[in-house]
Amino acid sequence: MSREAYQVPAMGGQNAFADSGFSAMAVDNPAVNYLCGECNARVPLKRGDPIRCKDCGHRVLYKERTKRMVQFEAR
Ligand SMILES: [Zn+2]
Repeated sequence: MSREAYQVPAMGGQNAFADSGFSAMAVDNPAVNYLCGECNARVPLKRGDPIRCKDCGHRVLYKERTKRMVQFEAR
């Protein structure tokens, strides 16, 4: 667990969507869950989102497999 001095604002990652021009209710663009290679956080990404963990900022994410158990209990 490398929790450095990274402060996440109360709004979470909502600002990221505004920056990328997505409307908040883009139901036509389902998010795909990825797992961070660093902290194992689940990172839902939509098409066009930057590949980056919203928790720790790591840039290596693994696609979450729905048909396999992949460390689901990690967090
Ligand atoms: Zn992470």
